[in-house]
Amino acid sequence: MTTQSDDSRDLVILGGGLVGMALALAAAKKGLTSHVIDRADPAELTAEGFDDRATAISTASWHLFENIGLAEGLAPFACEIAAIAVTDQNKPGRIDFVPGEGEGTLGRMFPNRRLRLALFEAAANEPLIHWVAKAHVTERQRSQYGVAAVLADGRKLKGRLMVAAEGRQSPTRDAAGITIAKWDYRHRAIIAGLTHEKPHGNIAWEIFYPAGPFALLPLNDEPQGTHRSSLVWTVSEADAAGVMKLGERAFRAEVEKRMGGVLGKVLSVGARSSYPLGFHHTARITAERLALVGDAAHGIHPIAGQGLNLGLRDVGALVQVLAEGARLGLDPGDPALLKRYENWRGLDSFMVALATDGLTRLFGVPGRGASAVRRLGMAAVQRTPLLKRFFMDEARGVAGDLPELLKA
Ligand SMILES: Cc1cc2nc3c(=O)[nH]c(=O)nc-3n(C[C@H](O)[C@H](O)[C@H](O)COP(=O)(O)OP(=O)(O)OC[C@H]3O[C@@H](n4cnc5c(N)ncnc54)[C@H](O)[C@@H]3O)c2cc1C
Repeated sequence: MTTQSDDSRDLVILGGGLVGMALALAAAKKGLTSHVIDRADPAELTAEGFDDRATAISTASWHLFENIGLAEGLAPFACEIAAIAVTDQNKPGRIDFVPGEGEGTLGRMFPNRRLRLALFEAAANEPLIHWVAKAHVTERQRSQYGVAAVLADGRKLKGRLMVAAEGRQSPTRDAAGITIAKWDYRHRAIIAGLTHEKPHGNIAWEIFYPAGPFALLPLNDEPQGTHRSSLVWTVSEADAAGVMKLGERAFRAEVEKRMGGVLGKVLSVGARSSYPLGFHHTARITAERLALVGDAAHGIHPIAGQGLNLGLRDVGALVQVLAEGARLGLDPGDPALLKRYENWRGLDSFMVALATDGLTRLFGVPGRGASAVRRLGMAAVQRTPLLKRFFMDEARGVAGDLPELLKA
């Protein structure tokens, strides 16, 4: 990491979270330099208990980690997803997504803390990245000549292209006047680590209740062999505070009731946290010398575990467009390059967003009739190998026009 603040770089990346930092590292692999500016303290972000979520990393995203040199360090923390089981309230008629012989996994689960540690360590050792943490941006400048971020301490960090990677509430996106469509699901996801009696067999469970999906995602066993999973339990906004306040025994009982015995008894529950769930999608992902990546551009329901994976596809596409442009001698802020990025990513992320939103609504319809119709549809998918393959390819992230960095 270099520390000069007056040098002009290819990229000024605002937000060094999972997507922003992956972008800086992928760009560096192609020889592109960056300033990465984040308001948070990395020591806090990586402290035990700060973010107890676990994330499903698709096969395509794993290839990105291999290609930017993170896979070796992360591999010991990966819990492979060998199959996904989908049920409607644990009633008969589930769908099992099981890849065929030699087809590989359906993804890998990682504790978010491990992902952050790997990205931050790599960034700290990468000379092409100038990382400024605990920084407050007071002014964003973009013109046909270049871009700059002015910090509260007076520093001015200059570059050729500004990238907004500040997540859902991106101020850079809002300051650029980019139109955004958004709605609130009036749901919260309650997250906790669980230890349980039976092994998970590397199966990810998605159990749909009208109040929202209840997911059990496999994690590696503890060193002494205790079985572990990550719980993502969606509850209505109105019920969330009550569920968060439940005593440990009552919480365990509620979780067990919804698990339908698939993992046996719940032995312990870790710290609980809760996240509001909303949908947003921007009308554009570029403007003059500006590109949006990750949750700054699109936020979806975690039902299918695709939010970060979409952001990493943005990373692969943007870096490929910029690297190809650099070979032709083009400036990273060249409008033709930004148009290519816009055309490439706009449709793909919109389709995934629509599908996820549709799924959330479909399974949210209460009543026995709706459940019977859903289970009829699920039985049809269960019997149709071609449909199953389609869904599995989507989960692996290998469908569509993949950037080179996301290929093996
Ligand atoms: C419950 C839950 C479960 C999920 N599970 C999955 C999953 O299994 N698989 C999956 O692919 N995705 C999953 N997601 C989605 C995934 O977590 C997000 O898509 C991903 O974290 C987005 O990363 P990001 O870097 O774009 O944004 P963020 O993670 O929000 O990072 C934004 C960064 O910008 C910084 N920042 C913000 N504002 C400023 C500012 N003004 N100035 C400077 N810096 C700023 C922040 O400090 C932060 O570091 C899940 C989400 C939730 C809520």
